[in-house]
Amino acid sequence: MTAHRQLIPNAPPWPNGAKCAVAFTFDLDADSILHLAHHQNATNLVATMSMLQYGPRVAMPRILALFREFKIKQTFFIPAWCIEQYPDAVAATLADGHEIGHHGYLHEHPNELSRERERYWFLRGMDVIEKFTGTRPQGFRAPAYRFSRDTLDILLEEGLRYDASLFGDEIPYRLTNGEGALIELPSHYAMDDWAHYMVGRDLDYMMPIKAPAHAMDVFRSEFDAAWRHGAVWIAVWHPFLSGRLARMEAIGELMDYMSAKGDVWFATLAEITDHIEGLIARGEWSPRTDHLPQYPAPIPEYEEEP
Ligand SMILES: [Zn+2]
Repeated sequence: MTAHRQLIPNAPPWPNGAKCAVAFTFDLDADSILHLAHHQNATNLVATMSMLQYGPRVAMPRILALFREFKIKQTFFIPAWCIEQYPDAVAATLADGHEIGHHGYLHEHPNELSRERERYWFLRGMDVIEKFTGTRPQGFRAPAYRFSRDTLDILLEEGLRYDASLFGDEIPYRLTNGEGALIELPSHYAMDDWAHYMVGRDLDYMMPIKAPAHAMDVFRSEFDAAWRHGAVWIAVWHPFLSGRLARMEAIGELMDYMSAKGDVWFATLAEITDHIEGLIARGEWSPRTDHLPQYPAPIPEYEEEP
């Protein structure tokens, strides 16, 4: 095998000399997405509802047990409405020491809302999380990655320390609106189980389902590359999809593989943010910075024909 080229020139140092940071993160959307897509008719979509409710009811205990076995803490992004609907699943998650991140109220899409409506739902979500967990969330993942041109302003106003919605790198970077800044912890679609497993006629996803082995081939390849290049590996799992038997077994096998390989830092996203902020504060490493909005307006070069 030829030597691997160095693809990331400025990877941050990871704790205890680890080769990479690994965060399995879970988006516990449950049936919020069905009420959002079909508000009036959701209660008549019984099979899809059962598929989604399987997440908090059947998959979550399984997921929590697996992470207890490996003694790994994780980040769970949960729409606030789901916290209200499934308090037992969330209480069990908190009892195991996991982090709860902000994931909207009803999984509403920020970039389809006015700035005022986006702020309204964001604050309503903050309120629920704070009441339920006793602390303010430190991080946010935009539902369906629908980060808007106003989202960063709202995150900074509300004091969030990191975002995990964007795809702009394989190592943490800084997002700024010119006034404040936070840490972006990026992922990408190959690292999201949705692309591998999601089928739902009522939600307009009809794609070929991949065998867990094929899906894990993608996740494992991304992990091996992250390990070689010093990246952060952030996967996005949906309990209703990946909590199913064969897929759950495959996640356990992936965790075995990572543990056996060694020199891996398993962490929550808040812990990764702590580490990165510490490196910056001590002058030991400096991230690159992306400015938002990316453009102030639609580009002038392409105008409608008169
Ligand atoms: Zn989601």
